[in-house]
Amino acid sequence: MAYNNKELWDQCLSEFRSIINRQSFATWFEETEGVAAEGENLVVKVRDQFTADWLEQHHLEMIFDVITRTQGDSFRLTFAIPQGNGTYSYAVPELRKYKRYDPDTASEDRHLNAKYTFDSFVVGDFNRFAHAAALAVAEAPGKSKYSPLFIYGGTGLGKTHLIQAVGHFIKEENPRAKVIYVTSERFTSEFIGSLIGKSTAEFNRVYRNVDVLLVDDVHFFSGKESIQSEFFHIFNSLHQKGKQIILTSDVAPSTITGLEERLLSRFKWGLVVDIQPPDLEGRMAILRRKAEFDGIALSDEVLAFIAENVVSNVRELEGTLIRLLAFASISGCDIDISVAREVISHYSNGSSSKKIGPSDICREVSSEFGVQERSLQNARRTQPLALARQVAMYLCRELTDNSLKTIGLFFGGRDHSTVIHAINIIRDKLKSDSELADKIARIRADLSA
Ligand code: ADP
Ligand code: MG
Repeated sequence: MAYNNKELWDQCLSEFRSIINRQSFATWFEETEGVAAEGENLVVKVRDQFTADWLEQHHLEMIFDVITRTQGDSFRLTFAIPQGNGTYSYAVPELRKYKRYDPDTASEDRHLNAKYTFDSFVVGDFNRFAHAAALAVAEAPGKSKYSPLFIYGGTGLGKTHLIQAVGHFIKEENPRAKVIYVTSERFTSEFIGSLIGKSTAEFNRVYRNVDVLLVDDVHFFSGKESIQSEFFHIFNSLHQKGKQIILTSDVAPSTITGLEERLLSRFKWGLVVDIQPPDLEGRMAILRRKAEFDGIALSDEVLAFIAENVVSNVRELEGTLIRLLAFASISGCDIDISVAREVISHYSNGSSSKKIGPSDICREVSSEFGVQERSLQNARRTQPLALARQVAMYLCRELTDNSLKTIGLFFGGRDHSTVIHAINIIRDKLKSDSELADKIARIRADLSA
């Protein structure tokens, strides 16, 4: 089959955008482009050799996963790398660990990320207890008194990494163990899918027959009664059979709002542990390990500087290293303290010294489009309200750190796919509609004034 490469790749891009963080997306994907179709080849133009290598080493699994989902697995991906004199070199990236989609193990360990193992997990005071509990469970799944094990902590602190590490560990010890890793969102959509497809029996069969069930981000169950009750029954059935359950959440079980009492009390049956943001020592240790892993030589001075200035969570630390690497490779300089200072001030202090929020955006958009500010957030769909709202969503994505879900909630409880749709519409329009581009430029200027 010949693809319309450009369209297919654009579709993939909008998915990647919602999967990885904004900075990684901007650094590695923003400038990629699907180019003319050639048989079964999906040819993607990338900026340079370095980008091609990085994508191959760090993002190939996601890329293949998304393409396979839309195209089946008979595609071939080729990177076209500009050589500077108008010619290209071509590289066919290979994913060594890639497994073919197998419906029998459909929701099994397919979602375990190979990177998230105990080996790559750095332990410090901030996560020592959670790590020890996870390891205890991994060594004797279902046999310890830690079922369920409930791990909570702020975003980017390693919860997903840790429960996936348990999954890998158990699979390694016992390849026949049935381990399912699932986010609560995916669990929910699979359940709804099974209702629509009249396959709830199958859904139940899959989930009631696992040895280890890893459910990530259960705070998402909050307020969703029918899914809670479905989960409650699965939970009980597994618990009775002595199977292992591990749950994670952004917040402690008792502060998840809208959770049924009976489910809450189940969550507290086993062991509840938290992960704190890493302390300075922990941040240094994490940076050291990641730099070593990525093969970047960084002086202690640089490491300490990052550790002192990037304090929020581990994901931010990783993002900073990626940016440093990108900056150094693009500008061709060594990573010293002045480069680190430049990168960090540019991305954190510099750009967010004046923090722009969704309401600032709505205010400026409504005045530029001459619509009522409040109406941007309600459900009416009349033109030109719809366009103004799409612009506001687009700018929220560009200028704030809010997730698609949060943005959707802000704009009258729309779901994240509506937000993606809005963003794509505006991106498209911007290519040809100069009047709209001017409007948006004015709004941006007003916002940063
Ligand atoms: P959460 O699920 O709590 O939001 P993640 O597990 O997704 O956080 O972690 C965010 C990123 O930080 C991941 O890339 C993960 O590998 C990394 N990370 C988090 N904690 C650690 C740690 N203790 N050691 C090594 N990497 C970590
Ligand atoms: Mg997570």
